[in-house]
Amino acid sequence: MIDISTTSIEFLKGVGPARALLLQKELGIYTYEDMLMYFPFRHLDRSSHTPIAQVSTSDPYVVVRGYVSNMQTVTSGRNVRLTAQLHDATGVMELVWFQGVKWIRESLKPNLEYIVMGKPARYGSVVQIAHPDMEPVSMNAEVENHAFLPVYSSTEKLKAKGINSKLVSKLMDTLLRLVEGQIPETLPPGLLSHFRLPSRAEAIRMMHFPTSHDEAFRAMQRFKFEELFFLQLDYQHARVMRQQLSVGRIFGVVGEKFNEFYSQHLPFSLTGAQKRVIKEIRADMRSGHQMNRLLQGDVGSGKTLVSLLCILIALDNGCQSCLMAPTEILASQHYASFCRMLDGMDVHVALLTGSLKTAEKKRIKRQLAEGEIDILIGTHALIEDDVVFKDLGFVVIDEQHRFGVEQRSKLWTKSSVPPHVLVMTATPIPRTLAMTLYGDLDCSVIDELPPGRRPIQTIHGTDADRLRLFAFMKQQIALGRQVYVVYPLINESEKLDLKDLMDGYESISRDFPMPDYQLAIVHGQMSAEAKAYEMERFKSGVAQIMVSTTVIEVGVDVPNATVMVIENAERFGLSQLHQLRGRVGRGGEQSYCVLMTKADLSHTGKERIRTMVNSSDGFKIAEADLRLRGPGDIQGLQQSGVLDLKLADIVDDEPIVKAARDVVARILEADPQLLQPENRPLNLYIKKKRKGPSWDRIS
Ligand code: ADP
Ligand code: MG
Repeated sequence: MIDISTTSIEFLKGVGPARALLLQKELGIYTYEDMLMYFPFRHLDRSSHTPIAQVSTSDPYVVVRGYVSNMQTVTSGRNVRLTAQLHDATGVMELVWFQGVKWIRESLKPNLEYIVMGKPARYGSVVQIAHPDMEPVSMNAEVENHAFLPVYSSTEKLKAKGINSKLVSKLMDTLLRLVEGQIPETLPPGLLSHFRLPSRAEAIRMMHFPTSHDEAFRAMQRFKFEELFFLQLDYQHARVMRQQLSVGRIFGVVGEKFNEFYSQHLPFSLTGAQKRVIKEIRADMRSGHQMNRLLQGDVGSGKTLVSLLCILIALDNGCQSCLMAPTEILASQHYASFCRMLDGMDVHVALLTGSLKTAEKKRIKRQLAEGEIDILIGTHALIEDDVVFKDLGFVVIDEQHRFGVEQRSKLWTKSSVPPHVLVMTATPIPRTLAMTLYGDLDCSVIDELPPGRRPIQTIHGTDADRLRLFAFMKQQIALGRQVYVVYPLINESEKLDLKDLMDGYESISRDFPMPDYQLAIVHGQMSAEAKAYEMERFKSGVAQIMVSTTVIEVGVDVPNATVMVIENAERFGLSQLHQLRGRVGRGGEQSYCVLMTKADLSHTGKERIRTMVNSSDGFKIAEADLRLRGPGDIQGLQQSGVLDLKLADIVDDEPIVKAARDVVARILEADPQLLQPENRPLNLYIKKKRKGPSWDRIS
């Protein structure tokens, strides 16, 4: 019996130590199993080939059959190239090599019929294939029987050592014969029959050497399912274990502070959604297990207020809390609004950021350790090792995408019993993604805005509308309102972006001259103090126009601002535009968002702007963003791992994502510890996995 998961690829006939080393380094193939799971990126249907006369350079890849003639070695300077003609009954094309010329020239036989594969290109008036994959029609007895020839991606280094797609397929063929009947199943048998999936052994064979398109498709479906299934199992199992096994503080009472705030300091009543979410959090806090909850809600839906209420519950149960924000500006704003809301109550709130003076930091840390501070608000500074709480019981993380998992988990170590964690995000995450991303977190959603908000009117404009835009801004300013003008900041070209911003600033200064108008400016290159100063000028109403890069995107609250102008709007992600738009419409006045773009937008660009103009629902917008641009552009997903899926596509394979999620939930509900014989492979998987990083790695 061969254990495919441990047997080194070195022992496969035709590999040996030198090639094994290359396969490890270049492709990450160490074992037989790694090799079996190294799937071809496409197949060539050898049973059908294109007549040479019909080869079109728009084909990404062609298979032709023909005879080689007219080989010529051409030397120009130090470069040598070999050309040859390939002809069949219908026509002639050219083959060309720039490397290995001598060897190829010697090995090509004029009287043999070849199968030739590659990407056709036009070179002058000739159609060419450079460095084609070739094999004589009659050769390759073992692989010959396969109607579909797998094509594996290879690297330059591998090719240089002769490990090309053809060799890999030969090795694969050998390996499949060798391990026949010895590929273990990884999914429970009940699942296979329920979803009509091929067994793992069958599917592997079908991935490499399918006998029909249908087989290739079914094999792919199985592996996509498998990939998503185990991702879900990972997350959901971690969640179930946390819910059942983790120890959490029990916040049994809703006490004095909460009640005092609720009855005397809350100037409005909570929305239904806020009440529901607080109930969900309360239930977690009483469960005896650590809470890990994600709170999603559009900008302005009242998440921060919810977090404050929960912090007061923690306080009523004798615990300290902290709130971590991604930027200093945001942290200061949270601090200011907490101080304002808690004014008159005996609650000690402190702000800890990197820019505080050393003595001040020291004092705060001492007070924190002695338990004098009830609520600590800050940035990353909170996770430094020398920030020690007396008894941290509740952690709120705002805008979670900006914090890495590592950073978050550092907060754990600050308390002997892990604190409850509430992660808040205003980036609406489409359902499919949320399922995949946050399978390990419990989710709450605030899907209702406080009453009395007027929908923001969104308008699309181009340079031709600029005079009208300025007139409109003046009109709003005359009414006593304020205006944001935002420029994109895309990291790769910070200098260019800054130039855009400065040019824009100058042109606005010309049209809005002092002393009638005051402009504020904020961008990433400014010091924290300078930023704070400019923000303050805008907040206090001294400046009527705030020109900035996207630094204001997160959470700035100036209710008197009614106009948001976004320059180069086509360069922003939709969710980002939505976030920015949420900066206005916070007071009672009618607010406007103006999306300025270049005049000649692409088709997708037009559709994206149209989506923004027509919709104010963050979730709908996020879905559209996902559909129009793929997951890569949704903020925060870059580090999430969803984009690292090998086979499945989070957008196109949504039905599989759902099926996998539901079936995992059902399995864990019936058998949370995975002890049933049927679930043995899953249990094994988890055990293996958990030997690595510990399961509470998330949040
Ligand atoms: P978020 O953090 O979700 O962006 P906030 O908690 O900052 O939202 O709330 C946005 C604004 O709405 C704040 O000025 C807040 O005081 C106000 N607000 C929150 N909840 C309500 C409510 N139920 N009724 C009226 N106003 C509310
Ligand atoms: Mg907020």
